[in-house]
Amino acid sequence: MASPSAAASGDGASLPSASCWDGRRRRVSYFYEPTIGDYYYGQGHPMKPHRIRMAHNLVVHYALHRLMEISRPFPASAADIVRFHSEEYVDFLASVSPATAALVSAQGQLAYDSASASASARQLKRFNVGEDCPVFEGLFEFCQASAGGSIGAAVKINRGDADIAINWAGGLHHAKKCEASGFCYVNDIVLGILELLKYHRRVLYVDIDIHHGDGVEEAFFTTDRVMTVSFHKYGDFFPGTGHIKDVGFGQGKYYALNVPLNDGMDDDSFRALFRPVIQKVMEVYQPDAVVLQCGADSLAGDRLGCFNLSVKGHADCLRYLRSFNVPMMVLGGGGYTMRNVARCWCYEVVFCICFDSLESTGNKLFIDAQCNLLQTAVAIGVEPDNKLPYNEYYEYFGPDYNLHIQPKSMENKNSSKELENIRIMLMDYLSKIEHAPSVQFQSRVPETGVPEEAEGDMDHRRQAKLWSGEHYDSEFEEGQQPEPENIS
Ligand SMILES: [Zn+2]
Repeated sequence: MASPSAAASGDGASLPSASCWDGRRRRVSYFYEPTIGDYYYGQGHPMKPHRIRMAHNLVVHYALHRLMEISRPFPASAADIVRFHSEEYVDFLASVSPATAALVSAQGQLAYDSASASASARQLKRFNVGEDCPVFEGLFEFCQASAGGSIGAAVKINRGDADIAINWAGGLHHAKKCEASGFCYVNDIVLGILELLKYHRRVLYVDIDIHHGDGVEEAFFTTDRVMTVSFHKYGDFFPGTGHIKDVGFGQGKYYALNVPLNDGMDDDSFRALFRPVIQKVMEVYQPDAVVLQCGADSLAGDRLGCFNLSVKGHADCLRYLRSFNVPMMVLGGGGYTMRNVARCWCYEVVFCICFDSLESTGNKLFIDAQCNLLQTAVAIGVEPDNKLPYNEYYEYFGPDYNLHIQPKSMENKNSSKELENIRIMLMDYLSKIEHAPSVQFQSRVPETGVPEEAEGDMDHRRQAKLWSGEHYDSEFEEGQQPEPENIS
């Protein structure tokens, strides 16, 4: 049933769901590995798992953990991971260590004069591990935690134990079957979707990371059991794929949609495109489960991104998808200005638990020391206090210490005409697909048939890189280190 507020505000969307105990609250399952923030990609690398710990810390200080079930993920086993990835690649990930990588780089100048260094060097190159995707201490355990969270989330949904399952350590959408890419090694999303497909006929994947969701699209490019919809910056930008004319192949034709965008996308233009496209997708595809990749590098001020979304604009995508009352997995992804990632993912937890009436009430709330008021507020659907509660990473959030962020004053290079043309093209594709295709129920989608690269070709290829090599060591670059008196 549509909640009254959604219906009144013209949000439109609702599919009946027996699993929700009312129109507003959802049973939320949240996966968090307490050691996740300790993994470290290396000095200057922009991908910082610490942001997940920061988001979790805000969640706890807003007392949101009391309104959902918190689980520590089981680490995904190698057997779980080879459901998508090649065995050789998984063996490599499980065995490689910083010492191997160091040996290779030391031997590199000597033309690999030791046999084992030479073999390792070939593997590092073959699996694209080294620069964007470095070898770091505990790499495989990190992958196991990330993938374990998404598989665990899918299991919760499959069993009907949760309406929404969250894994901020997941969403690593660039990883390929036999290759790391764009800071991603194991594609937890593909593994989670494969798990969902055991019990769900059709799964919709929506990706609002600023980068194209290439690894997930590729995995399901030839099937209609998964529809992928990626909104991303396109044109001279990593990973280079995601043209509007790439729509899937064979059985999967028109079941992959790409929304190529330009710099400066703001809340209004994003919403004006996202809502009608997703509404049409929900209407024609009628998924049994939805997976939303919430990459936060589409936020204003991201260190690698160039969009201009506020936290509210980003969360509006989640809010809209949630209003359809279809079981949903909510995953992390990119996001390189840590304080904003933490803000965004904390706020989105609020949206998962409750919230159709957020904008309609306009209520503001001040929390007491026990955060009891906030709990009540979230339960009835009012806005959490914009003043952040004191937390372990408080100094990161200066100088304003607010939950919300202001968009930047930057040009939106997406004209209304271009956006309208994109919308028309996507609507045209969607008009071509069979309504709710009746698919054969199978536990595994067809192999994508991506050819293995011949080893000899590897020397000639140029890998796209996500990161220019510029260093991103601290949140406090650009003179942002707060004065001590601001912290208290
Ligand atoms: Zn990204």
